[in-house]
Amino acid sequence: MQKDYTNMWEGLGLNLENHAGLLGVLSDAYKNIYLSQRERPKGMEYFDFVISEIHGLRVEEIFEAKKEKRKIVGTFCLYVPEELVLAVDGVCIGLCAGAEVGAEEAEKFIPRNTCALIKAFMGFKLAGLCPYVELTDLLVGETTCDGKKKAYEIFNEITKKVYVMEIPNKKGEDGKILWQNEVRRFAEKLEELAGKKIALEKLKAASKIVNEKRKALQRLSFLRSYDPAPISGLDALLVNQVSFYDDPIRFTTKVNELCEELDTRVKSGIGVAEKGSPRVLISGSPMAIPNWKVHAIVEGSGAVVVGEESCVGERNFGTLLDDDFSSLEEGMQKIADRYMTINCACFTPNEERLTNIIDLSRRLKVDGIIHYAIQFCTPYLMEAFKVKKVAETMGIPFLRIETDYSMEDIGQLKTRIEAFLEMIEKGVIV
Ligand code: SF4
Ligand code: SF4
Repeated sequence: MQKDYTNMWEGLGLNLENHAGLLGVLSDAYKNIYLSQRERPKGMEYFDFVISEIHGLRVEEIFEAKKEKRKIVGTFCLYVPEELVLAVDGVCIGLCAGAEVGAEEAEKFIPRNTCALIKAFMGFKLAGLCPYVELTDLLVGETTCDGKKKAYEIFNEITKKVYVMEIPNKKGEDGKILWQNEVRRFAEKLEELAGKKIALEKLKAASKIVNEKRKALQRLSFLRSYDPAPISGLDALLVNQVSFYDDPIRFTTKVNELCEELDTRVKSGIGVAEKGSPRVLISGSPMAIPNWKVHAIVEGSGAVVVGEESCVGERNFGTLLDDDFSSLEEGMQKIADRYMTINCACFTPNEERLTNIIDLSRRLKVDGIIHYAIQFCTPYLMEAFKVKKVAETMGIPFLRIETDYSMEDIGQLKTRIEAFLEMIEKGVIV
């Protein structure tokens, strides 16, 4: 039986009624979408457990970390270097949320036509639903899209603990210098917060931990290139979502254990869908927990999602850090360089993203690309045009979806996705 965490949640100032409602909805959705899948790898049991304890055990662990005077740093974007947080013995927690809760509360502060991801991180706090945000010592924002950077100003008025990293818009020399300075400034902020200086050995150890996590996720991604796919897109998406808030060392061990099981499946030809089932790449805006909508529809319609060209996916782990450095200065430089390789649509131009989509489509043997953009997410909605052209050039069928976190458009999405999969099966390219 699950432990009762009511006192802990109450102590954190959560709204117990709203919170119970959220956990109830999450648990039902998880049963319907995840636990009903066929041929799931045994290694997913760990991730099922993590989800069942989403606001329990991990929150308790963070409480323990705080007792040991470790600092808790909340983030909303891939550009925030986790290595630096770990190098001051901090705990890094990704705070993006993928559920339509607290939107009404959020709309008292921000316009209705703001993307669901921003509304959700504001809404979770305002509706008293997120234990993690309450436990953080620092919330790190960034100047990526306009919606986020203005929302952080308001979020700081509410929480009084937002720190913003400036992200350049272009990756030329000036942009790189700006970014290197921002990485150094963030390191100083963390040193001040933690009351300790970053030591070279600590930075090297932290870099290794984060690189090992990336390598495990890369390994999982490579295994998805087999046909039949040894793991569903839903399960792989979940692993990627959990990577943002689980303990990184334990997480890496569990992903590697899962991959060992998948290796065996590949050798025996065991898959989650029939060999030859349509293979889909999802490309676009991030999908934070519990945003499983599009994957559930695609896989419920007989296809398999084999990759996510997304921040909750390849953009997070695609590039390793060159951790062979022998001074702090060199380490900072290499960290800045590594994070500049992330190809977010907030950059202009952003040709690297297109190259990555081509590489992924080939490696994962993709039959169709679904471009997924959250409604009002201008950067990704705009880039859909270029992704479509890439798909056309490669002769890969393409579908553009714009949606939010609500369930209202499920029927319509299902109809469009089914028609798209039918086109793939018939070999029609649009
Ligand atoms: S899409 Fe861009 S802004 Fe959003 S998390 Fe990814 S890198 Fe950050
Ligand atoms: S990049 Fe898009 S999804 Fe991310 S916060 Fe901005 S508008 Fe929302």
